[in-house]
Amino acid sequence: MFVYVSNRPSLDLLGTLKWRRDRPEEQLHSPADVESWTRGSSLGLTVQADPAALERVRQVRECLYRVMTAVRGADRPLPEADVALLNELAAAPGPRLELAADGRVTRTGTIEQSLAALVRDALDLMAGPDLDRVKDCANDRCTRLYLDVSRAGSRRWCGMSECGNAAKVNAFRARHRT
Ligand SMILES: [Zn+2]
Repeated sequence: MFVYVSNRPSLDLLGTLKWRRDRPEEQLHSPADVESWTRGSSLGLTVQADPAALERVRQVRECLYRVMTAVRGADRPLPEADVALLNELAAAPGPRLELAADGRVTRTGTIEQSLAALVRDALDLMAGPDLDRVKDCANDRCTRLYLDVSRAGSRRWCGMSECGNAAKVNAFRARHRT
């Protein structure tokens, strides 16, 4: 159900509100969605979510989106409340990793610990050279961000299934209409 195409868990989280410009489509409808998204994300974390956790995740997601957008643009200063919320989470403990004798590693955590990890991931991205490789999907309507890890930096779409293939089909139709 969820797609993880952004190469960073924090960017994948931002993508759970799709088509932000003209027809916002929420992907996190219930606490179960939050649990499922978190388990499927690169955090690979099993968490328990309740309605308050759902609200909290959406709140932090939107805060991250505002700040990421401002940091990539020239919007300064950043909103004070957003800066405070992100710093609070960045300083909070993250998920717990535990190594077993059989070599397996399990990751456990709460929603707050998951959010702490996601915020650190985002700040880490903002702090480093990879920020220049964070791109907008070439589909005008799509508002998903992704980290372009291709060697040539030539990736254009968030993913082929939703945007890349649609663009190719449209181009094909346009060619054959004339
Ligand atoms: Zn896209």
